[in-house]
Amino acid sequence: MKNIINRLAEDHVLSRDEFRELLTNITDEEQEYLAEKAREVRHQVYGYDVYTRGLIEFTNYCKNDCYYCGIRRSNQNASRYRLTEEDILECCKVGYELGFRTFVLQGGEDGYFTDERLEDMIRSIKRDYSDCAITLSVGERSYDSYKRLFDAGADRYLLRHETANEEHYGKLHPKELSLHNRKQCLIHLKNIGYQVGCGFMVGSPGQTVDNLIDDLEYIKELEPHMVGIGPFIPHKDTPFADQTQGTLEMTLRLLSIIRLMNPRVLLPATTALGTIHPLGREKGILAGANVVMPNLSPTDVRKKYMLYDNKICTGDEAAECRMCLAWRMENKGYHLVVERGDYKI
Ligand code: SAH
Repeated sequence: MKNIINRLAEDHVLSRDEFRELLTNITDEEQEYLAEKAREVRHQVYGYDVYTRGLIEFTNYCKNDCYYCGIRRSNQNASRYRLTEEDILECCKVGYELGFRTFVLQGGEDGYFTDERLEDMIRSIKRDYSDCAITLSVGERSYDSYKRLFDAGADRYLLRHETANEEHYGKLHPKELSLHNRKQCLIHLKNIGYQVGCGFMVGSPGQTVDNLIDDLEYIKELEPHMVGIGPFIPHKDTPFADQTQGTLEMTLRLLSIIRLMNPRVLLPATTALGTIHPLGREKGILAGANVVMPNLSPTDVRKKYMLYDNKICTGDEAAECRMCLAWRMENKGYHLVVERGDYKI
């Protein structure tokens, strides 16, 4: 096993059989060795710095009906909200004072947010905070739309591919959504010049080890700047309410593997990881992650952006979240930095 891990660290790639071995037959001790290797690489590129992104969940309206997601359109129990441009600028103001230099605007696929409205928002944020990066995470749009938003000033785009296997994609999504389109969007985003993030849920219903290998191979092929992965967690008002959640161990294993495959990748220790274990985010950083994304959304809407059950930090003020994470990172020898935290070329 150690040979396989060493080869992954050197060559940044493995055969499917070797990936399978790593994903299924690893002991605790070997997984610690894998994490050590991932940390080593991470320290070479990013030192002990942890980049922060202020997450602004600006709408939970969504036209899609993904089986796993708590804000899917069929969920009648979701109480829907949209932030105004003024609300969003206020989040940025608070965030800027707290040291955030990246704002992530995330939401459901909400038709209200036309290109014009998003362009206005992006321009306003860039006008007031020209030293900050803007990341969008608003799902699938046309090439022209992505281009307009980029030209308005957006720097990065997060669009998890969710699973790189066609058949598995069909188990997670209604038939009007396709993996082909999702991948096409990622190619468009890359061609336009965004720093792009793909990613997937670990332990989503029906996911096999072979599917995970497909995900790793897809990441290799796409060469994204960021990869967002976190455990799948069931939401009570979705068709997957009774499915089991993804595991901490598998998520950490995949974080380390992805770090070794792409030493420079921006890799968050996600809120979902912090939700399934009280020290999930710390463990994520120790497995090779280098980004955290605390919530900057106004406290009164946080409980409404419930993608999954038991999501953490939904009762806290932005400042509390920032301080709590700073403390958690320092505790492990890492520090949050006041920087945009771009991909290092
Ligand atoms: N509408 C945007 C943002 C989606 S929410 C888009 O389509 O990209 C961001 C991510 O949350 C999703 O990509 C998905 O991977 C994750 N997510 C959704 N439901 C989840 C659940 N039940 N458990 C864990 N992660 C979930």
